[in-house]
Amino acid sequence: MLNFTVGPVMCSDEVCAVGGEQVPYFRTSEFSELMFENEKLMLKFAKAPENSRVAFMTNSSTGSMEAVVMNCFTEKDRVLVINGGSFGQRFVELCEIHDVPHDVLKLNHGQKLTKEKLYEYDGMGYTGLLVNIDETSTGVLYDSEMLGEFCRKNNMFYVCDCVSAFLADPFDMAHCGADIMITGSQKVLACPPGVSMIVLAPRAVDRVQNAKVKSMYFDLADVLKNMERGQTPFTPAVGILRQINARLKEIEAAGGVDVEIARVAAQAQDFREKISALPFEFVSESPANGVTSIHPLNADAYEIFLELKDHYGIWICPNGGDLKNTVFRVGHIGYLSHEDNTTLINALKEILIGVGCSGN
Ligand SMILES: *Cc1c(COP(=O)(O)O)cnc(C)c1O
Repeated sequence: MLNFTVGPVMCSDEVCAVGGEQVPYFRTSEFSELMFENEKLMLKFAKAPENSRVAFMTNSSTGSMEAVVMNCFTEKDRVLVINGGSFGQRFVELCEIHDVPHDVLKLNHGQKLTKEKLYEYDGMGYTGLLVNIDETSTGVLYDSEMLGEFCRKNNMFYVCDCVSAFLADPFDMAHCGADIMITGSQKVLACPPGVSMIVLAPRAVDRVQNAKVKSMYFDLADVLKNMERGQTPFTPAVGILRQINARLKEIEAAGGVDVEIARVAAQAQDFREKISALPFEFVSESPANGVTSIHPLNADAYEIFLELKDHYGIWICPNGGDLKNTVFRVGHIGYLSHEDNTTLINALKEILIGVGCSGN
């Protein structure tokens, strides 16, 4: 199997090996130590400001998006949601479900968010901003620094969904002034799915500690209180947290977050150079490093996904909804090499010949 999706992705041998071990009991000082180590490295890699904290959640990242909306906003807020695809739409729906007043800054698929467009919403009394830094459905990267400056100017609580951007695109939580950063185990962290991390800057810690949340499982104040002793309120995905520990230490040993980001960027660039000779168009005006969205000019995107899966054992991501037949996505995250890119390109060439459009 060769997996070019955006998650779950392929794991390193070390992470796979930890997954093959027995899962230990967790109310122990040993497990607490492991959790403290995870927290320390997460804060370091997120470039979080002093006194930030991490909530390790046993849920997929959508659960963390929901927890953040529930813990950080109320019906007294007025939130601006950047919606350029299905993950932006998810924040919109979460605001609707939890009665958080909101307006939507809508962008077309692949459209870049410019400063002009953003500042149409300047000085309008918004209290918070929700954004997916890499809108993974089309691979558009938003400028976290530009958004941070906007939030600072308007005194808005700034929430960054970095689920697919963390470890793939440069992100400096302290510098851009994000209050919250969300990510998950199965994206660039390249572990199995099951755990999602919420990094909270001091202002966010304050806010959740004073929140009145109608939820037991998603009460972030309770999560943070338990984390003071390296624990979680309920049984976490212990095995995945041990794999995350192995992976964070692997990244640290290889030179840290900037080296990992450069590795993913090089993987993306190699692919984009190799595919530029084929009859495909790039969808994103502002491409993120983690994923490339591709529009085949003379072939059906979903057919290509099926061909690769069924005849080559290669997985890419199909798109959903109205993009199903026109766009597919290739991930550059996980345990992949430049040779793997060549294998995929060769398969794509054969498929295009098969449907009679080998292009140039
Ligand atoms: C993958 C992803 C999520 C969360 O997906 P889950 O299926 O809940 O893990 C959220 N936001 C973005 C930008 C993502 O890429």
